[in-house]
Amino acid sequence: MSYSSWFQTHGEKHKAIMDKLTHLSDDEVIAYFRFENMVEKEPDFCPLYKDHKKCHDMKELNCYLCACPNFRFDDEGFKKVEEKPSTPPAT
Ligand code: SF4
Repeated sequence: MSYSSWFQTHGEKHKAIMDKLTHLSDDEVIAYFRFENMVEKEPDFCPLYKDHKKCHDMKELNCYLCACPNFRFDDEGFKKVEEKPSTPPAT
């Protein structure tokens, strides 16, 4: 899975969740996207949820703004892969 295809799919899943939370306030929506709640209520949102594994080691991880360019998944799953350094344009 390339980053761009993951980004597209992830955005669509995010919109589907938002569409069903229209009755909540902004603060309640943000609270809904807390990692622990999302693992329970939206297990298909992120492949890391099934192992209850956070992408960042932080106590209060919120998945609302997830689209971190640090994530790169290989084609066999969701293993993080290293970005190759870009080559500067020829002059
Ligand atoms: S913030 Fe991390 S745990 Fe949450 S959806 Fe994004 S990658 Fe998954």
